[in-house]
Amino acid sequence: MSTDIAELGASPLESDDNNVPASPVSRDIKRLSTRLSNQIAAGEVVERPSSVIKELLENSIDAGATVLDVEVEGGGTKLMRIRDNGLGISKANLPLALSRHATSKIHLLDDLEAVSTLGFRGEALASISSVSRLNLASRSVSEDSAWQVQAEGRDMDVNLSPVAHPQGSTVEVRDLFFNTPARRKFLRTEKTEFNRIEEVVKRLALSRFSLSFSLKNNGRVLHSWRSANTRAEKERRVAQICGPVFIENAVHVDIDRAGLRLWGWVALPTFSRSQADLQHFYVNGRAIKDRLVSHAVKQAYQDVLYHGRHPAFVLYLELDPSNVDVNVHPTKHEVRFRDGRLVHDFLFSSLHKALADVRPGDHANNVPHTEGSELLSPANQAAMPVMDASVPTEQGNLNLSNRPVGVPFGYALAPSQMSPGQTTNEQINSYSNLVNPQGVVPVGGVQESAAAYSTSQGSDVYADTSLVPPLGFALAQLKGIFILAENQAGLVVVDMHAAHERITYERMKTQYLQQRIPSQPLLVPQSLAVSEREANCAEEFNDSFSQLGFALARVGPESLLIREVPAMLIHSDVEQLVRDVLSDVIEYGVSQRVEQNVNAILSTMACHGSVRANRQLTIAEMNALLRDMEETERVGQCNHGRPTWSQLGLSDLDKLFMRGE
Ligand code: ADP
Ligand code: MG
Repeated sequence: MSTDIAELGASPLESDDNNVPASPVSRDIKRLSTRLSNQIAAGEVVERPSSVIKELLENSIDAGATVLDVEVEGGGTKLMRIRDNGLGISKANLPLALSRHATSKIHLLDDLEAVSTLGFRGEALASISSVSRLNLASRSVSEDSAWQVQAEGRDMDVNLSPVAHPQGSTVEVRDLFFNTPARRKFLRTEKTEFNRIEEVVKRLALSRFSLSFSLKNNGRVLHSWRSANTRAEKERRVAQICGPVFIENAVHVDIDRAGLRLWGWVALPTFSRSQADLQHFYVNGRAIKDRLVSHAVKQAYQDVLYHGRHPAFVLYLELDPSNVDVNVHPTKHEVRFRDGRLVHDFLFSSLHKALADVRPGDHANNVPHTEGSELLSPANQAAMPVMDASVPTEQGNLNLSNRPVGVPFGYALAPSQMSPGQTTNEQINSYSNLVNPQGVVPVGGVQESAAAYSTSQGSDVYADTSLVPPLGFALAQLKGIFILAENQAGLVVVDMHAAHERITYERMKTQYLQQRIPSQPLLVPQSLAVSEREANCAEEFNDSFSQLGFALARVGPESLLIREVPAMLIHSDVEQLVRDVLSDVIEYGVSQRVEQNVNAILSTMACHGSVRANRQLTIAEMNALLRDMEETERVGQCNHGRPTWSQLGLSDLDKLFMRGE
């Protein structure tokens, strides 16, 4: 069997006289033959085997089929066969089905305004049959015998004959492009073409969970997806199509507002991709690629995605069909929304919120992406801990907005909300206020907290879920970089700088929005030698600086005096902090874009305020950081999109030691 489709026997260009290209000097206008005009139309619709599969499956879906079987041979160029159990086509309609501009789906312009079927142009079968050998067999629900028609790249004189066929239709397409060698030249290897077919089938299988699909390649069944109706079944199909790791790291969304509904799954930012290859977006069940949609999604991930990475999602937007124009492109991959702004804002705000609401403990988040993790087995998938952003969680209620801002890292939790390992407000020497460069871990720190756990009801606190916070209790610090903690599931490893950076950043954003980043005067104002340009910038943008919590005074052509800095950053290297913010403001200030880029500036600032590597923390400080993380939006990633923490479950640890094997 050849794998190179381009090698298949090429037949000479047909000698149909309509096919002779008009010479450039000819001015004669001739009417195209039906066949040639269909072949021209086929150029748009039938680019390659996968586009045939797409059109045929869409027809089956439009016909109300519930079972759709696809068979492919030779990458689709040899044979594609689609069988469905839909409404079928009556004997009288069969010949029409193959002719161009013949459709049962719309009859009037008004129908086009609110089209709800996938097809409506009446072009697919005519186009496909003009570039292949097509056989269409069908039995209509309303008739008790089945009929078939054939077309072989000829004009539309099809011949009708009786055939045995159950209710529904079977379309067989053989020898695709046998009469259009130019098209055939663009085909890739059999394997590549088949992969594209597989993609198309997967995309459609994701669009209609209630339908059963199967895909056979060269006689072998590759996929078979049975009708999925419950959320667990749908998630199983998503896992089969997009990979189990996607669904494990996804947030389920379902938001309904102002006549728009968005539902589906979005991956956590830590499960980003190097390519935009796991992005499925459906508008009223039609897969589309749309700039407006991509833009809204990108914006929603902006603050949490590592530079150059792409988000992964499977999302369904549902709206009144009359609010979306699907007739803007022959392949119908693009759409036009009547109110694009509304759709954009709805997508952005829904996704932004869904991502912000993710908290440790809501989700088996940051599961190490190892193969064969316990969540991968299908039996477990019904119980997959996909978090539901549509249901507010306990955690969600404890967010920043309920906390007094400007109280750096203090605790305002009632004693009843405190966990055994957690000390009270006064006991905590907040980690951010702790400047302890020599870093001495208090002797017995670890034992101390271990003792604290066991005093609780004299039993193992870890056995009682309600007592263990999602990120657990700190055990130790590793290499001055990581915090190790124990929670219900096992071991939690936190990148302390990354986590603290996100906490500081989110807090400063909130403060900034509330127009008060609290500043704190330096005991001794610090002078700073700068360039003239920097001094000018400090002067010109003095208001911006004070909004950011700085008080800077120009005391010479090339010198500044730092009088106040944001309280949260008082322990950082003040000089370096001001220099970095100056350079940001210079960059953004040129075009007066300081306001628009304030998040970038706050992110720079947050980096300065965060605990550095090699800063030793006490157990109490580590616990304080863990509790802060649990209350912070987007805490799963640092400001640059890197993960801040990871869970090593007991089963992961067991695997390391081959226990139970
Ligand atoms: P369109 O889908 O745009 O109407 P097509 O050329 O794809 O145009 O199909 C022409 C017509 O043939 C459809 O409108 C439909 O009535 C009928 N048809 C095609 N495929 C099927 C099928 N699998 N089951 C029932 N009817 C079909
Ligand atoms: Mg169609």
